[in-house]
Amino acid sequence: MQNNSIKQNVLVINCGSSSVKFSLINPTTGNTMLNAIAERLNSPQAILKITLLNSGSVENKQFTEQFIESPNSHKKAIELLVEFLKQKHLISQIQAIGHRVVHGGEIYCQPTLITNNVVDNIDKLSQLAPLHNPANVIGIKAARLAFKSLPQFAVFDTAFHQSMPEKAYLYGIPYKLYQENGIRRYGFHGTSHYYVANTTAELINKPLNECNFISAHLGNGCSVTAIKNGKSVDTSMGFTPLEGVMMGTRSGDIDPGIIFYLVEQLNYTIEQVNKLLNKKSGLLGLSGISNDCRTLEYAMLEKGDKQAELALNIFCYRIAKAIASFSASLQSIDGLIFTGGIGENSSYVRSNILAHLTLLNFSIDQEKNLQIKGGKSGSISKSNSCSCWVIPTNEEWVIAKQSHQLLIEQNITAINQIQ
Ligand code: AMP
Repeated sequence: MQNNSIKQNVLVINCGSSSVKFSLINPTTGNTMLNAIAERLNSPQAILKITLLNSGSVENKQFTEQFIESPNSHKKAIELLVEFLKQKHLISQIQAIGHRVVHGGEIYCQPTLITNNVVDNIDKLSQLAPLHNPANVIGIKAARLAFKSLPQFAVFDTAFHQSMPEKAYLYGIPYKLYQENGIRRYGFHGTSHYYVANTTAELINKPLNECNFISAHLGNGCSVTAIKNGKSVDTSMGFTPLEGVMMGTRSGDIDPGIIFYLVEQLNYTIEQVNKLLNKKSGLLGLSGISNDCRTLEYAMLEKGDKQAELALNIFCYRIAKAIASFSASLQSIDGLIFTGGIGENSSYVRSNILAHLTLLNFSIDQEKNLQIKGGKSGSISKSNSCSCWVIPTNEEWVIAKQSHQLLIEQNITAINQIQ
């Protein structure tokens, strides 16, 4: 019989196509013991960087770093991490593994205990998320081999948006494409939108299920979500993460006629169009400089670069339009929430967006706005304005918490019961 009292942490695993991120988190307190990232997998430059954090206040965390060369596959990266956890006597503290999974389709609207059947379903859903779900499956299979005795859970990026009504998730295309092929809007970044909504509800001291918010997750990928009574009722990303607002390298919404024109008149192949819209557009494509908001702000403010200014202006205007469009989804609003690398840090972007939203009674407090960055949270609106918040996201903590809750609710004690 194992002593479960010290098994208090959840290992969160986020597998991308060429990277794996790990966090070892206490699900109750949110305290993170370890962060690790394996990058450039399947290449000679593959590296695993492990950061061991000592507990303390968030700003004050001390850490030791350890670099391990050559984890050249997802499986190897997970094995190297396991070895490290054993050496540091951390492995015995893990109660469960929580996997971030991008696409749950219409099957998964809740976090789910991973069984063989669930792995098969996630694999089948690769059709809808060919860039993401295959990597998630590789990570899950490798983790199931490496942590044979631990229960594992999947938390889906699409799950929070499964509450959208038909009028929000259906496209104006023949209905049978939805019925027979699952072509509909799914939405992404759900874990982040849920986290910031929940945190803001706590800050304003109102039950989440009575709160209406619009949340803007602005990072390399960007999406805006309308949240009614704590549930997603519309979101800007759609069938894929390409729909919606403009992003770092993604175009967001364009006239689909442009694709025909590129192919028929300019002889683009479908792969070239795919690359153009996903990897070469957005802030990068318009500025011709970078997809990185910091680089563009620097170019605009310090060097007077007009293309950088144009790119940032279009970025902000399109986000403001998406936010305003959700006045069709909500009858009242308890707050607008900014999160993600840009939303949490760029006072310029927040201010530019809010300047377009005076009709909705948003008015920014510039002093507060300038002070909020680097992991701080707080209000940035004037007292007579519709309220506006900056909340640093923490998807890993949500994954750890939801895995822990399922573990308790389903009273899972032995892994051999759940194969
Ligand atoms: P994420 O995908 O959430 O990690 O966000 C990445 C984006 O956040 C990049 O465009 C960064 O340039 C942007 N970002 C991070 N820090 C800052 C900052 N201090 N000011 C402006 N943008 C920032």
